[in-house]
Amino acid sequence: MPTIRQLPQSVVNKIAAGEVIERPASVVKEFIENSVDAGASRVEVTVEQGGVDLVRVADDGTGMSADQLSLAVASHATSKIASAEDLFRVGTLGFRGEALASIAAISQLVLRSRTADADAGYELIVNGGLQEGPAPCGCPVGTTVEIRNLFFNTPVRRKFLRTTQTEMGHVTEAFTRIALAFPRVHFLLRHNDRTILDLAPHESWRDRIAMLFGDELAESLIWIENKEGDVDLSGYVADPSQSRANNRMQYLFLNGRHIRDRSLQHALGEAYRGLLMTGRYPIAFLRIEMSPEQVDVNVHPTKLEVRFQDGGRIYSQLLGSLRNKFLTTDLTARHPGQGVPSSMATQTETTIATFDQGQAAEARREISAWAGAEAFRHTDATAESQVDRQGRMDLIPQPRSHQLPGGPSSLPPDHSGIPRTTEEQASVPLGAPPAMQIHNCYLITECADGIMVIDQHALHERILYEQLRDKVLGGSVETQSLLVPEPVNLTPQEAAAVLDARETLHEMGIRVEPFGGDTVLVAGYPAMLANINPAELLRQVVDLLLDGGPGPHRRDILDELLHMVSCKAAVKAGDRLTPEEIQALIDERRLVQDSHHCPHGRPTTWIFSRQDLDRKFGRI
Ligand code: ADP
Ligand code: MG
Repeated sequence: MPTIRQLPQSVVNKIAAGEVIERPASVVKEFIENSVDAGASRVEVTVEQGGVDLVRVADDGTGMSADQLSLAVASHATSKIASAEDLFRVGTLGFRGEALASIAAISQLVLRSRTADADAGYELIVNGGLQEGPAPCGCPVGTTVEIRNLFFNTPVRRKFLRTTQTEMGHVTEAFTRIALAFPRVHFLLRHNDRTILDLAPHESWRDRIAMLFGDELAESLIWIENKEGDVDLSGYVADPSQSRANNRMQYLFLNGRHIRDRSLQHALGEAYRGLLMTGRYPIAFLRIEMSPEQVDVNVHPTKLEVRFQDGGRIYSQLLGSLRNKFLTTDLTARHPGQGVPSSMATQTETTIATFDQGQAAEARREISAWAGAEAFRHTDATAESQVDRQGRMDLIPQPRSHQLPGGPSSLPPDHSGIPRTTEEQASVPLGAPPAMQIHNCYLITECADGIMVIDQHALHERILYEQLRDKVLGGSVETQSLLVPEPVNLTPQEAAAVLDARETLHEMGIRVEPFGGDTVLVAGYPAMLANINPAELLRQVVDLLLDGGPGPHRRDILDELLHMVSCKAAVKAGDRLTPEEIQALIDERRLVQDSHHCPHGRPTTWIFSRQDLDRKFGRI
């Protein structure tokens, strides 16, 4: 029979350290959090070799008295909670009372501290768990805690450490998260005697964000504020012109603590659907303040993840506030002074090529959320102008009806109408700017503060998408009935999926009927898709239905269909447009809710400001 024995405290501490202290950055996080909890207004972090050789954090907080010093490094000793009930109203970053004890068990730790009313400070040394002191020492008010040789007695952990550069990256990230949460505290980060970050105290959050991530990003930030019940949401999200290839620039702070929350990250992604390109993630700095009783922060050893009592409500609050904000914000992509980022240019081209080859599976996944409830309500309010739109859209022809040959050079001179002199320009009413088509792909036109370059396919697709969406909602999609319904042979699984989605398809103007066996009849298709082959359309619908995974939401399918149909019906890159068609597109641009992005999130329009042009030509 195996014998059960109580583990010695040193082993317990090492086990705890294994959970909480993964790498030097974890130590940095715990120490800085303690400084913030101690009310520090200045926190200096010094690191050597990515924190493997040394981590020192010095603060000007409350400090500790001699008797408190030994308690600080004892396990499960904390000044922050006293009872189990307190766990449900934690107002500090720390509360587990484990960090110092476990870090001291796997490193050589020196703790120096002095309170404001003490004549001198005290020093406590812990070497791999063995304690010396506290002994008096000279030091300023506050606390300095320092460790050397992290993991010196846990060789396995030590082996997992990465290069200095990688570890320093993690340290900087840990530092940044706390520095972001507390802009009024002065934070300093030094690595191998070099100052990496010196963040003076800031009143405004935007200033701190600018210090950490640069002015360009800070200037693109959009303020969000919303209070629902006792949940207060506030902060910044970046204009869609700024995005990242991963979601690491999504900083969420719950009552001052940095958290990661999949559901809220998902809400962010949803809010930006249709505004960002595939594979790009929004940037956000958001604070959620709520009563601590409504959230459990004790579900994760480093408290990175939390559990909300009503996660669904916070999800909708975040999504709703962002959507409302975007509906009232001008998100047109601005041409940055240094030129269009080349990554943007290449991605745009690739996307067009993909659509043209009919392989829009990836794009289809990028469903726009603008068909969501909020957007619908907004649409109702502008119903009048919607009616007005329908007629004039006829000016924009269906695909393939205008695929004239000819490159840019064959453009007749009077197609352009773009004024060439300043005198002419002055006479152009800004309300009705003329435009020219270049490379059979882009439209160029004047706008109030510069020139606009429009991607004809992306813009048309957005226009059709919004119009079609309105019609679907109004139950008025026009169906082109087939005199002879076309039979299409499918697999049993495909046929079942199509027939299951029959009503949704009907809403989109696609009519299908069972024909016995696994054959399905296409009886009608959206009138918008004048020249489409019905069988081909059904094949695409099948792909879309089967791609959707198990039990996709009806609205999502509808939205995917909306995308597919508008993409198919829109003019393509390479299509030559008549002056009337160009004019119609530009006129329509003003009427759509989001004329800045195609439903797949590519920008439809870039603006090159007059000021940029003047600068480039040396006028200013
Ligand atoms: P916790 O932060 O969860 O309470 P720690 O092990 O991190 O646990 O710290 C234990 C205690 O030591 C804290 O509760 C606090 O009272 C004290 N302490 C730690 N660091 C500091 C500091 N920088 N300034 C003042 N007190 C500190
Ligand atoms: Mg702590």
